[in-house]
Amino acid sequence: MTRLIFLGPPGAGKGTQAKSLAEFLHIPHISTGDILRQAILDQTNLGLKAQSYMDKGDLVPDQLVEDMVKERLNKADTEAGWILDGFPRTVAQAIFLGELLVNISQGQEKVVNLDAPDEVVIARLLDRGRKDDTEAVIRHRLEVYRQDTAPLIKYYGNLHKLLTVNGNQSQEEVTTELKNVIVA
Ligand code: ADP
Repeated sequence: MTRLIFLGPPGAGKGTQAKSLAEFLHIPHISTGDILRQAILDQTNLGLKAQSYMDKGDLVPDQLVEDMVKERLNKADTEAGWILDGFPRTVAQAIFLGELLVNISQGQEKVVNLDAPDEVVIARLLDRGRKDDTEAVIRHRLEVYRQDTAPLIKYYGNLHKLLTVNGNQSQEEVTTELKNVIVA
């Protein structure tokens, strides 16, 4: 049973690694960014509410993403395990998730901290060229990451749930290191 939370700055490779590891383990890859982008495409209520925050590189309000994650983790396919990518991003979200997992009997989660230096993540994101990947928005996302999300490293470290992987190496090297730390 694998339940993993991927933490790290935008551009650290969370999405790529989370997706391929989830395929390898045959468990769902739950990316809050992907769910939100799909909601925007579908012009759902959630999408309409989230769009302006995402365009600016701000966090979507906790309540919206928390409801979304609760709904997703209540689907039957999560019984085999899951990888959460992009959630939690604030201490409030982490507390919410901890309580949710206890309530739905899905504990024993581990947190993978995938880190890489700013210059590396900025270069990667500029190369990717998503709508919110302009240099100004990227810099803002990094500030938001440092202020709101980076405290989760300490939070999960204190709970002895944290595993660290160096994101500043080739994709294959990251995958190898990742597989090693999750089985260790
Ligand atoms: P990246 O890996 O580049 O940070 P994501 O796809 O994870 O990209 O997130 C894109 C955007 O979606 C974020 O900038 C934010 O606006 C919104 N978002 C995703 N997950 C969350 C979350 N857990 N809480 C608040 N906003 C979120």
